[in-house]
Amino acid sequence: MALVTCPDCQRNVSTLAEDCPGCGRPMAGRQDIVGGRRVRTVERTAKRFKGLIFLSSLALLAGIWGMITKAQTWPIICLVLGLPLLAFGKFMAWWHHG
Ligand SMILES: [Zn+2]
Repeated sequence: MALVTCPDCQRNVSTLAEDCPGCGRPMAGRQDIVGGRRVRTVERTAKRFKGLIFLSSLALLAGIWGMITKAQTWPIICLVLGLPLLAFGKFMAWWHHG
């Protein structure tokens, strides 16, 4: 493990670090780190779609609950928005992992 000086804050940073712990400057250059970055991007993407699935599920639940309590318009809006969002989220999650 070697140390390099951060060009921004002059702090000693490990070459294994993905970014400077002092100022957050990305420490690019190493191939394996670039590979690690790509893995991290995939994880972030998956989380975004999981969030979408979660939100659309909430919208669907709210819609169903609204139907039960016989509310007028908003349960339909929830269902109309929630269903395609849930389908889209599930599809994108599958697309990025399948
Ligand atoms: Zn720095």
